[in-house]
Amino acid sequence: MGDGGAAGTCDLRAMKILISNDDGIYSPGIAALAKAASAFGDVRIVAPDVEQSSMGHAITASRPLTYKKTPVGDFDAYRVNGTPADCVALGAYHWERVDLVLSGINLGVNLGNSIWHSGTMAAAKQAALLGIRGIAFSTPTGGQEPDFEALQPWVARVLDTLLDDERHELVNVNLPPEPKGLRWARQSVRHYDGKVVPGKDPMGREHFWFTIKPLESPEENTDRWAMEHGYVSLTPVRLDLTDEEQLSRMQAEHPVD
Ligand code: MN
Repeated sequence: MGDGGAAGTCDLRAMKILISNDDGIYSPGIAALAKAASAFGDVRIVAPDVEQSSMGHAITASRPLTYKKTPVGDFDAYRVNGTPADCVALGAYHWERVDLVLSGINLGVNLGNSIWHSGTMAAAKQAALLGIRGIAFSTPTGGQEPDFEALQPWVARVLDTLLDDERHELVNVNLPPEPKGLRWARQSVRHYDGKVVPGKDPMGREHFWFTIKPLESPEENTDRWAMEHGYVSLTPVRLDLTDEEQLSRMQAEHPVD
């Protein structure tokens, strides 16, 4: 996946948009995102060869990574035997001066707590760690596949809004099935039940499912609230996890040398 394009002048070149996800390269969500993004620049897809949902920001450090060219519609696309973060790292290595990384469209929302577990978000976070702007897109799945055709203009609207501003580095976007509009929203962090539910497989062997049902209803102006009210949620996220309030309090109440 070498850098095919001749070096043009910086300001005239088309925006280079690297696209990844955590559902895998064969997900209909990534084809929909590539289609919407292609109106904004040159698109290249580098995505996991199998599903990597809920793998968070894992990277592959104990074995080598490889990629294979894999058609996704008419898009330049590659599948990687790694995680979403691996895909973005490998994609940015092979394609010089990537301007933007988009991740998704994930089959399933990534609201509140999910940001901690999400592979979709990790792909965008990996971009931010490399100094590239990253945007993650997710949408709920009911019994059937999301209507990606209907979501395309909303993805375009989000990109219009976000690409206008050079300063944001990382944004988490969730799209309801039939959006009423866009909303800036905070991350809705709430405790979840975190239940481990036991069951039996057809051979009678014990197995377990992990559940992440939120325990409280969402506060207004959070991502979960926006989605529950039919709005696309836009949440700017930062890499620095420092709790400023606690840091100041600890420094004052527990001075150390
Ligand atoms: Mn996923």
